[in-house]
Amino acid sequence: MHEVKSPKKPLISYYIIIIAILLLFNLIAMPRINQMEIEEMDYGTFMRMTEKKQIGQVDIRDNEIIFTNKSGSKIYRTGLMEDPDRTQRLYDSGAVFSSEIVEETSPWITMLLSWILPLLIFIGIGQYLSKKLMEKAGGGANSMMFGMGKSNAKIYVKSSSGIKFSDVAGEDEAKENLTEIVEYLHNPKKYTEIGAAMPKGILLVGPPGTGKTMLAKAVAGEADVPFFSMSGSEFVEMFVGMGASKVRDLFRQAKEKAPCIVFIDEIDAIGKKRDGQIGGNDEREQTLNQLLTEMDGFEGNTGVIILAATNRPESLDPALLRPGRFDRRVPVELPDLKGREEILKVHAKKIKVDPDVDFNKIARMASGASGAELANIVNEAALRAVRDGRSCANQQDLEESIEVVIAGYQKKNAILSDQEKKVVAYHEIGHALVAAMQTHSAPVQKITIIPRTSGALGYTMQVEDGDHYLMTKEELENKIATYTAGRAAEELIFHSVTTGASNDIEQATKLARVMISRYGMSRDFDMVALETVSNQYLGGDSSLACSAETQTRIDEEVIELVKTQHEKAYRILEENQEKLHQLADFLYEKETITGAEFMDILNR
Ligand code: ADP
Ligand code: ZN
Repeated sequence: MHEVKSPKKPLISYYIIIIAILLLFNLIAMPRINQMEIEEMDYGTFMRMTEKKQIGQVDIRDNEIIFTNKSGSKIYRTGLMEDPDRTQRLYDSGAVFSSEIVEETSPWITMLLSWILPLLIFIGIGQYLSKKLMEKAGGGANSMMFGMGKSNAKIYVKSSSGIKFSDVAGEDEAKENLTEIVEYLHNPKKYTEIGAAMPKGILLVGPPGTGKTMLAKAVAGEADVPFFSMSGSEFVEMFVGMGASKVRDLFRQAKEKAPCIVFIDEIDAIGKKRDGQIGGNDEREQTLNQLLTEMDGFEGNTGVIILAATNRPESLDPALLRPGRFDRRVPVELPDLKGREEILKVHAKKIKVDPDVDFNKIARMASGASGAELANIVNEAALRAVRDGRSCANQQDLEESIEVVIAGYQKKNAILSDQEKKVVAYHEIGHALVAAMQTHSAPVQKITIIPRTSGALGYTMQVEDGDHYLMTKEELENKIATYTAGRAAEELIFHSVTTGASNDIEQATKLARVMISRYGMSRDFDMVALETVSNQYLGGDSSLACSAETQTRIDEEVIELVKTQHEKAYRILEENQEKLHQLADFLYEKETITGAEFMDILNR
C-alpha cells in the first residue's frame, strides 16, 4: 500500500482554529461561572442529601458532580466515586438531571454552547471533508483514511504507569515467568553478549479479570520503560485498511521508543483462526497479516517486547503462535484461596477498613471470584459504609458485597408469592440439608430467598474448606446428590415439581458426564479417555472421541448416576423430614439463614 501524507497538515491547522474558537467561548462564559460560588462537599454528605431528597439539580460530569440544593440557591461540588445505583437513587429522590447547572443564569450562553457552536463545527468539518473528497476524487478516499487510521495507542511513558509486581497479588508463577523480561529490559547487553534472543511475543493466557493487563503494565513499570497498549477490538474498525495501518503505526512508534512494552489486549479479536469460510472478515485478516509482517520484520533484540492477552488461546491462528512470534505462553489463572486473600488485602489498602476484618473468611466465601471481582467487592463494601454513614468498612459490608457482586443486586420490589416463597425455602434447604448430611460436602455459609436481579430465586453460599484439586469419586457423587436435593425436597413436600431446578439439572448432568467420560469413574469404561478438551478456559468445550454405540452407553451411565444420587438425596430428606420442616420454616420466616443458625437448628 502507498503512504499518502498530505492530509496531515491541513488537519492540524483546522484543529487549531477549532480550539481557538472553543477558548474564545470559554473566555466569555468563564466569568459568569465564577460569579456563582461553588462549595466543596464530601461524597457522604452528597449521599445523605440524596436520601433526604434535598437535591434540586444535579450534573454528573467526567470527574465531579455539580449539584444544587432544592431551592437552587446554593451550588456544590463533590468528587465522583464509582457508585452504580447513584442515578437511580437520585432519580428516586426527585432530583432534576441538568447538563449545565452553572449556565442557568445566562441562557444565551447555554444556547451558544449547546447549539450554535456544535453546528459551526459540524458545518466546518463537513465542508472540509467534501473539499478533500473532491480534491482526491478517484481512489483518493483511501488516503483520507490514512490520516484517520493513525494509531491512538495510549502511551504511558516511564513511571506514569506506576504499577509494580507488588501491586499484582497472587499470580506468583506468572510474575516469575515475566521477571526474565524485566531483567532483559534492564540489561539487554548481558543477553546479547551470549547471543541469546529474547522472545518477541509473549501470550498471557487466562480468564477475564485475572490481572493480565496489570501484569503487562507491571513489566513496563518494573523495567521503567514506556508502555503502549491497544485492544484487539480497536484494530478492527469500520474502514477496510484502517486496522492494518494502525498496526503499522503502533510498531513505528514502538520502535522509536524502544526499549518498550507493547500490549495487545483481546488479541483473539484479530488473531482468530482463518477458517477459510467464504466471505470471511477481510478487515481482520489484513490486520492480522500486518501484525505478522511487523513481528517478523524486527530482530529479537530491538528491545520491543510484545505482550498479548487472550482467554481463548485455542482459537488463535496457528501462524501467530509460530516460533519468533508469540512462542511463549504465560498462564494467568483464577486466584486460589491464598491469592484471593492477598488480592483482597491489596485493594483494602486503598479504602478504610475495620482492623478486625477477617480477610481469610471473605476469601473463602468468594471462591471462584476473579481479581477484578474481588476488587469490586472491596469497592462495594466501601460504598456500603459510606451509605450508612460509617467511617470504615467492616466484615458485614464485605460479606454483603460478595453477594452483591457475585449474585447481582437485591431486587427488593420483586415480591414472591407466598406459595412461591415456601417452595423456594424448601428447595434451598433441601440442597443445604443434603450437603450437610453427607460428611464430605462443604458446610453451608448462608442461604437467602431474597430474589436477585441475576434471576436466581434462592441463593445458597457454600464455603469450601480451602481449595482442593483432587476430589474423590464419593465427593463428586455427593455433589450430584446435593444438586438434585432441591428438586427432591419439592417432590417430598409438595408432591409436584417446578421449573426452579433447571440450573441444578444442568450442573448435575455436567458433573456426571465428566465423571464418566473424563475422570474414568465409570463402571464399564475403565481408564479410557472418551473425550478431549479443547477449551480449558471458557467452560471447556469438549468433543467425544468414541463410537456412537459407546455414546449411547455413556448416556445410559450418566442417567443412572444422576438417578441414583437423586434417590439418595430423596432418602436423606425423608429420613430428616422433621429438620427439613424446621429449617424451611425458619428460612421462610426470616428470608435468610446463616450457617451458624442452620447448624444450631440441625443439632438441636
Ligand atoms: P484482565 O486484563 O486479565 O482482564 P485486568 O488486569 O484488567 O484483568 O484486571 C482488572 C482489575 O482487577 C485490575 O485493575 C485490578 O484492580 C483487579 N485485579 C485483577 N487481578 C488482580 C491481582 N492479581 N491483584 C490485584 N488486583 C487485581
Ligand atoms: Zn436449586
